[in-house]
Amino acid sequence: MVKVNTDDLIKKSRNGEQRSKKELIYLLSLPPDSVDSYLVMAEANRISKELSQGKAEVHAQFALNLAPCPGNCVFCSFAQINGIFSESSQLKPEEAVAHAKQFEQDGANAVFVMTTAKYPFEKFIEISQEIRSKIKPETTLIANIGDQSLDNAQRLKDIGYTGVYHALRLREGKDSNLSPEKRKESIRHFQEAGLKVGTCVEPVGPEHTDEEIAEMICFTASIQPSYSGAARRISIPNTPIAKRGMISELRMAQIVAVTRLGISRTVMGNCTHEPCTLGALAGANLFWAEVGANPRDVEENTEKGRGGTVNHCKKLFHESGWDLLKGPSRYYGG
Ligand code: SF4
Repeated sequence: MVKVNTDDLIKKSRNGEQRSKKELIYLLSLPPDSVDSYLVMAEANRISKELSQGKAEVHAQFALNLAPCPGNCVFCSFAQINGIFSESSQLKPEEAVAHAKQFEQDGANAVFVMTTAKYPFEKFIEISQEIRSKIKPETTLIANIGDQSLDNAQRLKDIGYTGVYHALRLREGKDSNLSPEKRKESIRHFQEAGLKVGTCVEPVGPEHTDEEIAEMICFTASIQPSYSGAARRISIPNTPIAKRGMISELRMAQIVAVTRLGISRTVMGNCTHEPCTLGALAGANLFWAEVGANPRDVEENTEKGRGGTVNHCKKLFHESGWDLLKGPSRYYGG
């Protein structure tokens, strides 16, 4: 049997090799505060800096609506079963445009438009066209919406979306009402339509085994995304899943680093959420700013709660020794 050790894995990584699932499990099993784990984080930071020439990106997301959602992902504050929000509300087109323009002004490298899973697609198209027509032509526009057919994916592309955020979440279908197969099918549809897909290993909680996490890293690697990365689950107070607890930022940083080592060097981006210096230190080169409704928050307007601004994200990168990209997202092909 071949013995795995961190030094060998880091040496192999320096040669540009992608780590196997077995090696990822080993790296994930290291105590997050061990010297070996810090070496892995340093190597991931080195790779990310090399691939993105030391320039990190900040993307910014707003939600078009807030509504109790039958998707019932147990980790989401919109999930009907969590009973956090009972009323629905939607942004008017001019409010959506104002958010997008503000993000442009703040220097976000991409603007994300999010909805809950059941937001009407035609309405999404209508408001998106309004947003697209009012923002700069070079601004990268990204959709973060539910599963879609190939036709719908094509329409997103046609009206000026560059890409999407879409993830097969950990324990999809068990901790959510969504079908893992449909999630994967949608990713294929988006890519077939020419949309770039950013993804992430999320939402990681203490109950997820190293094997499950490694398997998900390998899945994200297999779709050749614009970026992968890792995000921890944020406990929504007074929900059953909150009893499972949360992993520390340090453990999340370790997973961010291990994800970097498990993904091909053709993938420039490595994200984490929520933004933190430990994540940036461990090789994250993408953070998100957020306003409006947020699935990790119980505040209707996350800017009054958990959501960070573009400037806050930039500051965290600066504190961690990163420069910032100016202009359209390179991860999405800008
Ligand atoms: S994560 Fe999306 S699909 Fe799941 S409950 Fe929240 S809004 Fe609905």
